[in-house]
Amino acid sequence: VRGVVVAVDGPSGSGKSSVCRQVAARLGLAYLDTGAMYRAATWWCLDQGLDLGDQLAVTAAVRAMDLRMGMDPAAPHVRVGETDVSAAIREPAISGAVSLLSTNLDVRAELNARQRALIDAERTDGSSGGTGVVAEGRDITTVVAPDADVRVLLTASEEARLARRALEVHGTADAAAVAATRAHVVGRDAKDSTVVEFQTAADGVLLLDSSALSFEETVSALLALVLD
Ligand code: C5P
Repeated sequence: VRGVVVAVDGPSGSGKSSVCRQVAARLGLAYLDTGAMYRAATWWCLDQGLDLGDQLAVTAAVRAMDLRMGMDPAAPHVRVGETDVSAAIREPAISGAVSLLSTNLDVRAELNARQRALIDAERTDGSSGGTGVVAEGRDITTVVAPDADVRVLLTASEEARLARRALEVHGTADAAAVAATRAHVVGRDAKDSTVVEFQTAADGVLLLDSSALSFEETVSALLALVLD
């Protein structure tokens, strides 16, 4: 049986991680969070005291990284060697540094190759026990898996994205929390846009705007696109 590949891209705060996880769980597919791979690479380099601007050292470190992605949507996790870094890679220090590492094109080539290998394994034999994979990031629909069965760009207005992220990080979406969130989210999207285009849908990529949708409504809309 050939596994289905669902590719989803979108900016930070679009809700794509939680939505993709839920869709993968409902369909019995594996779940690949490629942003977590860039975050783990950032953690790994900082853990070794590397300067993230040192392209050669960073590239060598990422090529040598023993990265293990746990792709069960019920309990996704990330290990580097024997260390579970799932929580550490969500720390503000990593979120603030990851965009710099992700502008390194040799690092991108290395992580793209690993992402393709993980996706191909699910496509051919479902080695994580599923019958395919939902893979999400910034360049999955365009660079990593342009041949995916379903390709979706999940967007939301800046207002909606900031409110969601503020709620996630500060537990409230009042004016102060949104203002505190703005610098981080808008700044990271601006840096990320310099290397990958994820703000507009490429040819053949379906656009799903979640601005006015609840979490459940967004999950249903994505499920409908996949099952269509
Ligand atoms: O999705 P998440 O916000 O966790 O991604 C963290 C960072 O990883 C992004 O800000 C971006 O710099 C990088 N990234 C990327 N390409 C991807 C996924 C993530 O450059 N496919």
